Amino acid sequence: MGVLPSADGSSGTAEHAVVIAGGGPTGLMLAGELALAGIDVVIVERRTSPDLDGSRAGGLHSRTIEVLDQRGIADRFLSAGQVHPSVGFAQIRLDISDFPTRHNYLLALWQSHIECILGDWVAELGVPILRGCEVVGFAQDDGGVDVELSGDTSLRAEYLVGCDGGRSVVRRTAGIGFPGLDPSTSWMIAEVEMDDEPEIGMRPEGGGIGPVDRADGGGPYRVVLKERQVQHAREPKLRDLSDALAIAYGTDFGVHSPTWISRFTDMTRQVASYRRGRVLLAGDAAHVHPPQGGQGLNIGVQDAVNLGWKLAQVVGETSPESLLDSYHAERHPVGARVLHNTMAQVALSIPDDRHRALHDTMTELLSMDEPRRRIAAMISGLDVHYDLGEGHPLLGRRMPDLDLHTADGSTRVFTLLHDTRPVLLTLGQPGGFDISPWADRVRSVDAEHDGVWELPVLGEIAAPPAVLIRPDGHVAWAGDLTDPELPRALTTWFGAATPAYLGTPGHTDGDQSCL
Ligand SMILES: Cc1cc2nc3c(=O)[nH]c(=O)nc-3n(C[C@H](O)[C@H](O)[C@H](O)COP(=O)(O)OP(=O)(O)OC[C@H]3O[C@@H](n4cnc5c(N)ncnc54)[C@H](O)[C@@H]3O)c2cc1C
Repeated sequence: MGVLPSADGSSGTAEHAVVIAGGGPTGLMLAGELALAGIDVVIVERRTSPDLDGSRAGGLHSRTIEVLDQRGIADRFLSAGQVHPSVGFAQIRLDISDFPTRHNYLLALWQSHIECILGDWVAELGVPILRGCEVVGFAQDDGGVDVELSGDTSLRAEYLVGCDGGRSVVRRTAGIGFPGLDPSTSWMIAEVEMDDEPEIGMRPEGGGIGPVDRADGGGPYRVVLKERQVQHAREPKLRDLSDALAIAYGTDFGVHSPTWISRFTDMTRQVASYRRGRVLLAGDAAHVHPPQGGQGLNIGVQDAVNLGWKLAQVVGETSPESLLDSYHAERHPVGARVLHNTMAQVALSIPDDRHRALHDTMTELLSMDEPRRRIAAMISGLDVHYDLGEGHPLLGRRMPDLDLHTADGSTRVFTLLHDTRPVLLTLGQPGGFDISPWADRVRSVDAEHDGVWELPVLGEIAAPPAVLIRPDGHVAWAGDLTDPELPRALTTWFGAATPAYLGTPGHTDGDQSCL
């Protein structure tokens, strides 16, 4: 087998800390997270160019915009899309404009634009992308992974992450089970021109017709149509689309000039494990489900943000490899919940009288505030709660983006997270805890906040005197600085105290059992 030249030009197999298979939204986000943390990462991408065939995902939900805001790049996306004050659940519109977040809306933006903006960010961070190159296999040993590439070449990495989509080669090669449901329904999707003015809008059974350019309207049009059969021997063609339009609308609107015709199903599967040794899975490689609710791309990006800082700390040897187990523990339940709600949405969209009655009942229920808030927070990703045990309501939840006053001026919480470092934020009386043993990894900030603390669904909560915020924006600890859990949380999430500080007079942590 041939080898790719190392970055220094020598002829040995190129070595990287992390190889990412797949440069879709999940792979790009993960690469950005790792690069920000100073990790040597490379993306291997099958496509020869960044262009995407077709628009696919149509938008970003609140929590995804928040994680992009945590890295200082949300404005790039906001300036390219249009905001809408509601999210959809089985086509029932749920207003989220009263949600306690700066991003209380859905951002309509096609996946092709999302990938383009993420690609520019990753390029600025200097991440190499090997385009027109496929991961075809790998072998892992105690020290790393030999990643086999198309063209009879290879790379050596400490870790391999499969972000290579629903048909993931990495998942298959790792032998990780992918249990779930086979498809029950199939939809055709296309981008086409039409001679006649089509009927714009959703169809009761899901899908419909809309302009690709949502701001200006007009053609080309994106068409999504439920198919009569689930199994198909070949890819759909223009003729099939024309027939499906005629069945649904009584006319094909003079459809022509397709730039993209494909199909998707409601196949619903999730990997049994997000990690096998030095190989991890994220995004569609780890979970596939129908697009109802528009959550797939969003949870892939959020998988990447959960994994990035953990992998960076393990590669950087500040944390043990066991930290990576928390990636599966935290993200598998989130993925499972999305699979569950998409199955419910597919069932609610079945166009018969009984399901229509059920849909009407759900619509009535969701017009009430409490059910609306719960379901909308789930779809928008704002209700994610990692199980970090008992404690303050913030524990395991996303930290709100509070306005802060510090000695250096005004700032906000998300700004403090731009460089992917954890933050110990003290809002009460400063002092009382010596952060020096973790100061090389954790930033300590004393600040004041005047307003109330409000969380989605839960409402107003009591302000804690201090919070420990992970790089992904989730709260690892909240309480008083004298709480013995604080050094434990610092050690669990960000590694052992620097030995030079142990036992020094200024170090107030008497309990070293966790170090
Ligand atoms: C019709 C439709 C509508 C959708 N609407 C929404 C929506 O509104 N909102 C939403 O959030 N999601 C939506 N989704 C889902 C969304 O498109 C996916 O969840 C998202 O693309 C997953 O991103 P990913 O990076 O994990 O995988 P992918 O986007 O599949 O990217 C995988 C990448 O890996 C590359 N690759 C594959 N195999 C290899 C290999 N062996 N070696 C190297 N590279 C490889 C591929 O070329 C690709 O670039 C929709 C999907 C469909 C089909």
